[in-house]
Amino acid sequence: MDLLNTLVDKGLRRELPTRDEALAVLATSDDDLLDVVAAAGKVRRHWFGRRVKLNYLVNLKSGLCPEDCSYCSQRLGSEAGILKYTWLKPDQASDAAAAGVAGGAKRVCLVASGRGPTDRDVDRVSETIKAIKENNEGVEVCACLGLLSDGQAERLREAGADAYNHNLNTSEATYGEITTTHTYADRVDTVNKAHAAGLSACSGLIAGMGETDEDLVDVVFSLRELDPDSVPVNFLIPFEGTPLGKEWNLTPQRCLRILAMTRFVCPDVEVRIAGGREVHLRTMQPLALHLANSIFLGDYLTSEGQAGKADLEMIADAGFEVEGTDQVTLPEHRASGGCGSGGGCGSEGPEGNGVCGSAPAPQAGEPRTDLVAVRRRGAGTDLAPNA
Ligand code: SF4
Repeated sequence: MDLLNTLVDKGLRRELPTRDEALAVLATSDDDLLDVVAAAGKVRRHWFGRRVKLNYLVNLKSGLCPEDCSYCSQRLGSEAGILKYTWLKPDQASDAAAAGVAGGAKRVCLVASGRGPTDRDVDRVSETIKAIKENNEGVEVCACLGLLSDGQAERLREAGADAYNHNLNTSEATYGEITTTHTYADRVDTVNKAHAAGLSACSGLIAGMGETDEDLVDVVFSLRELDPDSVPVNFLIPFEGTPLGKEWNLTPQRCLRILAMTRFVCPDVEVRIAGGREVHLRTMQPLALHLANSIFLGDYLTSEGQAGKADLEMIADAGFEVEGTDQVTLPEHRASGGCGSGGGCGSEGPEGNGVCGSAPAPQAGEPRTDLVAVRRRGAGTDLAPNA
């Protein structure tokens, strides 16, 4: 297909595709899907080989958020039955992080619900970062604490943070339909603050919130302009008890096209499959490794992921390898500025429940509420974490 040859050539040269080319990827048919994956896979392998970077989420503070992001189970008024707790102590967070590192994670993503940190919160997280760095040699730490005020990014950098995550989530045009308590411009400002402080910027999107193809292309083009080192691609987990709880509109094929389009537009950037991997890609997860070079290991912020061991087996079975701490994630032209990736305010995910006995096979496009499991283990509980 001419389109795919053009996109591969551009991806290898880091040349921006046209909007029409990006839209055409999203419009390809299921008959062309493997060709699309193969083409984007060439770009992925050119910049990242067969390496998969593992990231581990630690939810420092869960629920009780005053903001109203419609997709989020921690939002104001959420009736999702998630764990709710206030700040973990540095040693508790460090223990949770150590479990992820022992499971193969190279980066720990420290996430806290809320509009943004107070200066006292930054002190608290700084202590946590130091504890994690002391106990886990070579680990990268990304903070995700919401909107930053002046000087806070610099303080996190001084404390040893490598990266800061703040997602754009959706297009500027539709942002107001998803969240009313802060703006798209606020989000852009925080990503810029992280960049300016010398932190590796991580910013991504959430697909499946009812957006159009144009919205998806808009947000990915905006991300390319912001130039983060890593782009987490979340697939909405429609939590019951949130305004988007009925938005079951993704298929595994659609998810693969979205990841392929993201790879073509951001060819040399760490593209991470974030929340919703198990819920929406399901048995197609290994194909997605040909597009993304990074995933979260184990559980998400408020929901459970598949067992960490299953993540590792999937990577090996698909012919990929877990990226080691001695390997540099980003291509050389990017690596000098930072290390590249992070968690996600709103990164959510599930546990793949077994389908037992004579249960009817799910139909394509049917809501898969059976795959959404609220997290009940790890940080904030007495149970061992999944890593
Ligand atoms: S995404 Fe972050 S800011 Fe928005 S409601 Fe959830 S925790 Fe709060």
